[in-house]
Amino acid sequence: MIPHLTVGTQTFSPSRVFCIGKNYAEHVRELNDPPPEQPVVFMKPPACLMPPGIPLARPRHGRVLHHEAEVVLLVGRESGNVSGGRAWDRIAGITLGLDLTLRDVQSDLKRKGHPWELSKAFEQSAPIGQFVSPLQVPFRDAIPFECRVNGEVRQSGNTRDMMFPVPRLIQFLSSVWTLVPGDLIFTGTPAGVGPLQTGDRVTLSASGIGEFIWTLE
Ligand code: ZN
Repeated sequence: MIPHLTVGTQTFSPSRVFCIGKNYAEHVRELNDPPPEQPVVFMKPPACLMPPGIPLARPRHGRVLHHEAEVVLLVGRESGNVSGGRAWDRIAGITLGLDLTLRDVQSDLKRKGHPWELSKAFEQSAPIGQFVSPLQVPFRDAIPFECRVNGEVRQSGNTRDMMFPVPRLIQFLSSVWTLVPGDLIFTGTPAGVGPLQTGDRVTLSASGIGEFIWTLE
């Protein structure tokens, strides 16, 4: 677990971890799901957060463990009912993370109409990198990012392809919850999700944000 999140000299205690599902059209197509009419929101407990370099244990209650590379936002200010135009002002940090997903378990839960926690909120399911200020990131509404597994590019996305871009996500989330400093938002994954095997080395990278590596035990 990550006890504190730092951006420059600022420190935050992790609060809630919001995750957005189905936010890139090509990924929605690869899942054979219909496009959502509003952001799809689920959560992971903050105890799932894992810093880079820590070996990740494979969950034992499923077989198909998928990588989902995502841009992750850190809320820096209390925010209720934020208009889209003010949304980026509320974000103190940005990084990359993995929304690790047991796809076989999720498919079964979807079929039964059950909640997703067993497939999404298991221990170590939310590895995240170090945060940088969004002010350091050029073209923050069009961030190219990549996920490589053992050196091979598996996901190559760009945040400009989000169906619900960051301002819309902040507007929507803050209309339901009062966002507080330390809240995290996993903003959804582009196409190319796929299975991880024991021993795989996963690298997330984006210029201006950094490169973060985890190995699956
Ligand atoms: Zn995801």
